Amino acid sequence: AAMRKSKIKRTKTVCTYCGVGCSFEVWTKDREILKIQTTEEAPVNGISTCVKGKWGWDFVNSEERLTKPLIRKGEEFLEATWEEALTLIAEKLSFIKNEYGADSIGYIASSKCSNEENYLFQKFARAVMGTNNIDNCSRYCQSPATSGLMRTVGLGGDSGTIEDIMASELVIVVGANPAESHPVLATRIKRAHKLFGQKLAVVDLREHELAQRADLFLHPKPGTDIIWLNAITKYFFDQGWEDKNFLAERVNGVKEFKESLEKYTLEYAVEKTGLSMEQLLELANMIKEANSVCMLWAMGVTQHMGATDTSTAISNLLLVTGNYGRTGTGAYPLRGHNNVQGACDFGTMPAWMPGYEPVQDAAVREKYEKAWGVKLSEVPGHDNHHMVEGISKGNLKALYLFGEDMAIVDANSNYVHSNFEKLDFFVVQDIFFSKTAQFADVILPAAPSLEKDGTFTNTERRIQRFNKVLEPLGDSKPDWVIFQELANKLGANWNYSHPSEIMEEAASLAPMFAGVSYERLEGFESQVWPVTEDGKGTPLLYTDKFGFPDGKARLVPVNWTVPFEPGEEYDLHLNNGRLLEHFHEGNMTYKSEGLTHKVPHPWLEISLDLASERGLEDGALVGLTSPYGHVEVRVIVTDRVKGKELYLAMNSAEDIEAVNRLTSSYHDITTHTPAYKEMSVKMEVIETK
Ligand code: SF4
Repeated sequence: AAMRKSKIKRTKTVCTYCGVGCSFEVWTKDREILKIQTTEEAPVNGISTCVKGKWGWDFVNSEERLTKPLIRKGEEFLEATWEEALTLIAEKLSFIKNEYGADSIGYIASSKCSNEENYLFQKFARAVMGTNNIDNCSRYCQSPATSGLMRTVGLGGDSGTIEDIMASELVIVVGANPAESHPVLATRIKRAHKLFGQKLAVVDLREHELAQRADLFLHPKPGTDIIWLNAITKYFFDQGWEDKNFLAERVNGVKEFKESLEKYTLEYAVEKTGLSMEQLLELANMIKEANSVCMLWAMGVTQHMGATDTSTAISNLLLVTGNYGRTGTGAYPLRGHNNVQGACDFGTMPAWMPGYEPVQDAAVREKYEKAWGVKLSEVPGHDNHHMVEGISKGNLKALYLFGEDMAIVDANSNYVHSNFEKLDFFVVQDIFFSKTAQFADVILPAAPSLEKDGTFTNTERRIQRFNKVLEPLGDSKPDWVIFQELANKLGANWNYSHPSEIMEEAASLAPMFAGVSYERLEGFESQVWPVTEDGKGTPLLYTDKFGFPDGKARLVPVNWTVPFEPGEEYDLHLNNGRLLEHFHEGNMTYKSEGLTHKVPHPWLEISLDLASERGLEDGALVGLTSPYGHVEVRVIVTDRVKGKELYLAMNSAEDIEAVNRLTSSYHDITTHTPAYKEMSVKMEVIETK
């Protein structure tokens, strides 16, 4: 008899790649992914997606998926049952905690996983294991933006939504490449620019696609953004162009701030940044002429030693020009991962409980202590950077990491690897055998977003539900299930039967999410935090008050620090970032056939000048050396980069070493975000073509 064909299933999901947060239906038959179907109902993207959202899903059926827990035996990993693996982890973590104290263990959360999973992981670290040593990958990207915004306007998120960016008269993009890193957002900007007369200014080292389309493209010297930002802000005061009413009514610290700008004349900016007077004046005039200005930025700003200060300078400029709290205005740090916003929002940070309530606030702790029935540590924990330092010093003995490939992603990876080798115990929970997993003692097989329920929060602070499409592959399990089973092995009594119950708990404790619920997020519904109890969200922040107790914003003086230079021998500046076809370190996209077929590995972009100076053609093989490591890559000659500046995608297929073999341990002073973009190298030619 003919087998009955199983039906095609249509399930709403949210993209697992970038922070734009596109949603769509995935059509499946058994485990086969038939297609991605977009719909007008999707609040962010409507009928658009990029190549990753459309074609980048077959990694879920990759033969390389982890399907069984693995336990290290010498140099080998042996398959184990869940019971064996979780018992071993519970015993080891308890032993280390008893022997060296709760703060001798660190917890690294995942920006790829759900809000509920991040909430539960921080609850595990805090309530079950007794430490605030918990952090996530925002430490590698947008922590300086969060910090710069918290200083000035009181909240770390984007001020408005993508609708606001579209409605703006002038969009200024600094150190970001949305056409490749946030593609659907970039199409919105391109549309507004082309059809609605929106003006576009781009400030970057690389003349990427949006830069080529911009009305004004500025290419300052690496690491000098704070100078032109301060100089334009000063110029506004000097010309009497500042928004006087806005400053008088809504902003503190104006006088001191104005005085702090004294040295930042346009002449000084010309000298230090290499920009021309005409370019600076043109940008100042564009800002003056526009009734609404949005500023967007990403890693080109935040991965520098002065990153928090530069983010602060952006916010200062927006305040002085009155560009907050109205449609089409505001600050938009573009979040990289699908849920890096949510991972922070739901408390996987060393000094913050869910909803950005401080760990050090006794009343906040008391609220959680009552709800969770435990005593909480009042000491803020270590961030990722300090955890690695802690291992090096012998204070941190164990790490538990999920959905994060720190061995590739953290700067100065040779140093990070040598520290991982020193750990007494290392748990890695992932869907693949990542580079980090090679250092683990126990590896737990997790399930990707298509195999579980949950919510993600995109760059606009928009919370959206994704739904289970497939059963977890093999013995893999959703991360939240693993945390619950492990917590219960360690004496907790958690009984969550669905992520909706985890969200219910988080919403009852963190005022920012008071009205968030799965019922209100049915289908393509979404909520933009803060959400009041009646379910009303806040797409546009600061319409009548800023995020400080007195409701006023603060202008904060900031100064330029000279970028790190390792010495004249390292004569080339190496910039790095994303590629459209691959996401981040490439763990998922390089396991996606179509995407890998399109772009099998990244290239080093070199300028026409450098190519002719060194006699290089497309396809030439070169070695790059920094004081920290060495890599070999093939080059592509392009006019996107100029002079002695290079660009290498951070994505790394198996055959290419990661950018982070070259980066240093220098970091932003305030947030410890690595200065990935402050990187000088020397180049030797291996093959000229
Ligand atoms: Fe949308 Fe980003 Fe996913 Fe592309 S990668 S489909 S832009 S969410």
